[in-house]
Amino acid sequence: MEKLSMAIYRRRLAETAARLLIAFIVLALITCPFLVPQNILIIIIGVIALIGSIIVWFLIRNKFVAEHAPHLVILASFLSIMPLVVLSGGVHSHFIFLFPVSPMMTGLLINARAAHIVAGVLVIAIILLALFNGLLPNLEIFVDNTDQTLIRAYWLILATVITSIFVYYYDHLSNHFNTYLRDLAFHDSLTQIPNRRSIQEALELAQTASWRNRSWLAVMMIDIDHFKHVNDKYGHALGDKCLVEVASCLKNNVRRNEDIVARYGGEEFVAMFPGVKPERMEQIAEHLRREIEQLEIKSDEGESVRLTVTIGCSCRQGSSRIPAIEILTEADEAMYLGKEQGRNRVVVADNGDAGNDT
Ligand code: GH3
Ligand code: MG
Ligand code: MG
Repeated sequence: MEKLSMAIYRRRLAETAARLLIAFIVLALITCPFLVPQNILIIIIGVIALIGSIIVWFLIRNKFVAEHAPHLVILASFLSIMPLVVLSGGVHSHFIFLFPVSPMMTGLLINARAAHIVAGVLVIAIILLALFNGLLPNLEIFVDNTDQTLIRAYWLILATVITSIFVYYYDHLSNHFNTYLRDLAFHDSLTQIPNRRSIQEALELAQTASWRNRSWLAVMMIDIDHFKHVNDKYGHALGDKCLVEVASCLKNNVRRNEDIVARYGGEEFVAMFPGVKPERMEQIAEHLRREIEQLEIKSDEGESVRLTVTIGCSCRQGSSRIPAIEILTEADEAMYLGKEQGRNRVVVADNGDAGNDT
């Protein structure tokens, strides 16, 4: 599916509504003549409404209208229904069953304010129709009373069904859009790995689980060494490429489903390993450090850039009931110690738990 944005989401919704409008008119034009004798003027208005809806759909589909696509669909529906109502007995018309559906559709397509405006316009229209109903023509007076019942039931069913079909599509698209928004909120746009918000949430959850199970939780703070020099020497674009490569290298080497590596900010990454004990944590950190050291990133000029990272680690057992953020702080402090000791190394935080590897 095409990548969503708010604008694309609204356009797709409007396009779906336009398609439904076309299907709705086609269905009515084909099936109504089988039910009751049709007035030729009503059929002509139906065909004009169909052509209008196809034009609206074409304009939306080919992006000639974007922001106002939903408004155009609502206007097309209004212009299709109104003449039919006026020519078939005003408030007695069976087409008037489509009126109550319109504010709800407008609300889903645009917003509540637009729905209220549509509702207001329709209420005024209904009052005017009622006041001047005696003056209106009724091209659809059926000789047989059963015909009248049949056609009213038909339009009532159609109005009910069209509402539920539209809500189905609306729900489908809005779920898809919510997933997209969640992805945006929890992923780093440059490296495509989880972001700071995501790892903070995951750490809280993992820490709660580790309290409950009295299990271990290992956390690493991984910082690229002298990254400012890389930017200064090769430019920001290559700096970005380095971040992407480091992120993907870390991600490829953090494989268990429950382990997470995230971009914490700038050139800093955080990795989390539930259930991993201090000794194993140190092995993993050393492995990650070596993998990054072996990375070779090519600049556009063909120069190869080498990077190193300093990794600070902290491991805690659930029984110590330390908040997640504190484990992260311990890892961060260990990382700074590593910087002071000359960088490109792994430093394990010296907390009470780490020595107690059981
Ligand atoms: P140290 O070894 O002490 O960590 O030195 P450093 O240069 O890596 O650390 P410092 O905090 O001085 O600089 C971090 C640099 O990371 C500065 C900034 O330009 C760069 N940086 C942060 N975010 C981005 C980014 O999104 N893209 C690029 N290209 N650079 C970034
Ligand atoms: Mg750095
Ligand atoms: Mg840093």
